Amino acid sequence: MIVVMQKDCTEKQIEEVQRRIEERGLKGHLSKGTERTVIGVVGQTYPELRDELELLNGVLEVVRISRPYKLSSREFQPEDTVVRVGNVAIGGDKDFAVMAGPCSVESREQVLATARAVKAAGAAVLRGGAFKPRTSPYSFRGLGQEGLEYLAEARAETGLPVITEVMSPGDVELVARYADILQIGTRNAQNFNLLEEVARSGKPVLLKRGFASTYEDWLLAAEYILAQGNRQLILCERGIRTFETYTRNTLDLVAIPVIRKLSHLPILIDPSHGTGKWYLVTPMSMAAAACGAHGLLIEVHPTPDLAKSDGAQSLTPENFAKLMNGVASVLQALGKRVTSVAARGT
Ligand code: PEP
Ligand code: MN
Repeated sequence: MIVVMQKDCTEKQIEEVQRRIEERGLKGHLSKGTERTVIGVVGQTYPELRDELELLNGVLEVVRISRPYKLSSREFQPEDTVVRVGNVAIGGDKDFAVMAGPCSVESREQVLATARAVKAAGAAVLRGGAFKPRTSPYSFRGLGQEGLEYLAEARAETGLPVITEVMSPGDVELVARYADILQIGTRNAQNFNLLEEVARSGKPVLLKRGFASTYEDWLLAAEYILAQGNRQLILCERGIRTFETYTRNTLDLVAIPVIRKLSHLPILIDPSHGTGKWYLVTPMSMAAAACGAHGLLIEVHPTPDLAKSDGAQSLTPENFAKLMNGVASVLQALGKRVTSVAARGT
């Protein structure tokens, strides 16, 4: 349930409501929007609580949220969440953030060359996996801490913030020391202990959709992060399992308007894993921009044919630059712009 406060309510009244919620063994999550202040009540609520809270001073009304996810819902927060990483904005109606880089960090030279290229083409964030979830244990599984160090060096040189995946709760502290955004991969999308540990790092989190997750499963996974008090959360659709085998996954672009209707959280699209084929990445990126995505996550490699992972879906720097041009033309028609670190101070 959510407690909607009166417009002119005082801080003391808000505190009193929070205190009462906690006294009942529940948790209150405050959201102060431009239009209204609400307190989301989470835990095992009961019908009488509604009357009890509605009688408190400063309370306008108490509304039940019928959906199982609460803090990620539009009812709890009508305004879009905008996650800020340095001067990059992810979310809202104006900005479009492109995160790009190699699937795996393979060497210092590879990361630096890719970082320079994606920055020049207008990317806002550098991606790269140091801890790689591979379907086979015999595939390349990443450079670990050494990879994180190369990403940090690329950030120092280019100014691009870094997103990288963390796979186990025990690695969160290490990865959070290097990364600006922590990525939860599709295979860990319902690893609830990991979600909570990542949330407690206080860093922005990008949560991929599980390849077999419904929208409700996905938003409930998001709830694990929000319930820890971390509101810096970005969702990412990366394709789901269907009967189709031509593409690696089936990229579900309907997720964009659906999630934007149900939730205030930003949603990015990963057409690289969503299709598995480099030549499908640009058309799907333009389509994602057209139907309201807040940005993209794209795999780029200086020499895709030599990549240690996901070469078939990786763009060359030249093709990535073409993608950015295509996306920019779609965004222009929508009155939106590509967020870029190069726009610093403008
Ligand atoms: C990735 O982005 O590096 C990745 C492994 O993606 P996913 O979890 O979507 O498979
Ligand atoms: Mn990959």
